Amino acid sequence: MAKQSPSTAKKLASDVRSGDRRALAQAITLVESTHPDHRTNAEQLLTNLLGNTGKALRLGISGPPGVGKSTFIEALGLYLIGREHKVAILAVDPTSTRSGGSVLGDKTRMERLTRNPNVYIRPSPSGGALGGVARRTREVMLVCEAAGHDIVIVETVGVGQSEVTVRDMVDMFLLLAQPASGDELQGIKRGIMELADLLVVNKADGALAKAACGAAAEYQNALHLMRPRMSWWKVEVLMASALQGAGLPEIWRRVEDFQKKLEEQSGPKYNRAAQARRWLWEEIQDDLMAAIKSDSDVAPLIAAREEQVSRQEVTPSAAAREILDKFLTRPSKP
Ligand code: GDP
Repeated sequence: MAKQSPSTAKKLASDVRSGDRRALAQAITLVESTHPDHRTNAEQLLTNLLGNTGKALRLGISGPPGVGKSTFIEALGLYLIGREHKVAILAVDPTSTRSGGSVLGDKTRMERLTRNPNVYIRPSPSGGALGGVARRTREVMLVCEAAGHDIVIVETVGVGQSEVTVRDMVDMFLLLAQPASGDELQGIKRGIMELADLLVVNKADGALAKAACGAAAEYQNALHLMRPRMSWWKVEVLMASALQGAGLPEIWRRVEDFQKKLEEQSGPKYNRAAQARRWLWEEIQDDLMAAIKSDSDVAPLIAAREEQVSRQEVTPSAAAREILDKFLTRPSKP
């Protein structure tokens, strides 16, 4: 992919908008590329598409490995295309590589969805820091929206910081939980529960049905003890069997309810405007960090201070200030 002219970016943008799947794939490859020339092209493309973005419902889905995320997302995806929606499913998992790890990386299990023209599935970009993975996912999300996908599902593995990042890029956050109780329930990080707008106990079927009911009651109790994040929304616990497709209509009704209330509360545009401003600052932060880390004038000082900070000879704050000073006052490069 060479550097392209503005008219090529316009053509690609218009093909994406018309729903051309090859153009969508090409646009996503471009947006995900880290090559500097491609970055410029990607930015041109995104600028061309911006007016057609922001209209989708953005739903984050998280849960610990094995809870049934891919099974649930496949069932939900099938349910949604049955209701005339166009769905994009994007994974954010900084620990994954394309060959393993990521739930969506295992595309064979999503087979029924992958073949559907109204679905686009992107496994997590391999490797890299969470910031980079999240940035690419945000941009892929915009491209999918411009291609007419009215529901974007962002899937993340419930093990750490990625939920917080994903929470910030979606409208609503759904947490999947296991039919467990007692000690196992304690294992669910309180921090992650606090992010949830809806909690779904999956595997409520067969021998696990009773345990699922018990777990749902325990989760509901635990939620009662937490301070609600929003005065206008009560976080509920529902049950589902992703395997049997049970519970989906009820879950989807809550999602639509949430979206309606969110729009009533803040106006359809407000949430997106605040998100866009946060993204701007994250972009600045990421680019600035990358510039500092790749600056050859500052590199020796960074190496030295990292060592000293590890040995507790210098405080991180003093070292940070010194490194920033050095970066800001370095001689400008041609
Ligand atoms: P993920 O790691 O969270 O994506 O989980 P998977 O979707 O791969 O599912 C993990 C295991 O749980 C698989 O063996 C699934 O067949 C099983 N599973 C998923 N959903 C259900 C469900 O609703 N009921 C039951 N009984 N098993 C399920």
